[in-house]
Amino acid sequence: MKFVGAHVSAAGGVDQAVIRAHELQATAFALFTKNQRQWHAPPLSADVIDKFRANCERYGYGSQQILPHDSYLINLGHPEAEALEKSRSAFLDEMQRCEQLGIDLLNFHPGSHLKKIDIDKCLARIAESINIVLDKTQGVTAVIENTAGQGTNLGFKFEQIATIIEGVEDKNRVGVCIDTCHAFAAGYDLRTEKDCEATFEAFDKIVGFKYLRAMHLNDAKSEFSSRVDRHHSLGEGNIGNTPFSYIMKDDRFNGIPLVLETINPSIWDQEIAWLKSQQN
Ligand SMILES: [Zn+2]
Ligand SMILES: [Zn+2]
Repeated sequence: MKFVGAHVSAAGGVDQAVIRAHELQATAFALFTKNQRQWHAPPLSADVIDKFRANCERYGYGSQQILPHDSYLINLGHPEAEALEKSRSAFLDEMQRCEQLGIDLLNFHPGSHLKKIDIDKCLARIAESINIVLDKTQGVTAVIENTAGQGTNLGFKFEQIATIIEGVEDKNRVGVCIDTCHAFAAGYDLRTEKDCEATFEAFDKIVGFKYLRAMHLNDAKSEFSSRVDRHHSLGEGNIGNTPFSYIMKDDRFNGIPLVLETINPSIWDQEIAWLKSQQN
């Protein structure tokens, strides 16, 4: 079973995101559980939590179909102690929001070294951050997203993701989300079926499919291997439709949220319908 959807707006409350997903005929969705550009947000009210859970039940979204994304401000590998602490407590707050909403996954970008510490030290710091937060929460899995490698962002190589996972104590609560645009920009080709085979074989060898908990399905405005993160609508960018059709036909991507973060929300319903039509 494939779960397909988009990163919908939570304007008006997280409970509204569920309705927007349903209107797209999505079978999965992503959302921010707080304003993604601010450090602090008021706690979720009991009323909103109840409405979110009721809407999920009503429209048939189980916890394996929902993939919240954390705030863009968080850097779990921050080189400076005070800023690292701030990121860790913000990430803990995000995890606790998921716990309250009955969500099992939290998607995040691993972190950036900001040219102040070396790569290995930064990766170790990210793993330590995950350990600290998993220790204080229950049931929610930390889902590491591969990045395009823009600036000093880490996690653009599968080896870096494998190193982070190696440092996580509770392997049952760490996973990976592959973003197709980021992979392509980081030098993992996906333009032909053969490229898809090679890229996902590399992922399986280096990280392992058992850790794959989600996908972000995005075409790319950025060039191959450019380390630039610019998404595009499916089939309109430099990747083309092939990998999206490939993923929809491949059982290794069953049972996890497959989420669009493409640039034109007004065609998400069509993109979702097209993805569904590609299944065997
Ligand atoms: Zn993404
Ligand atoms: Zn991106």
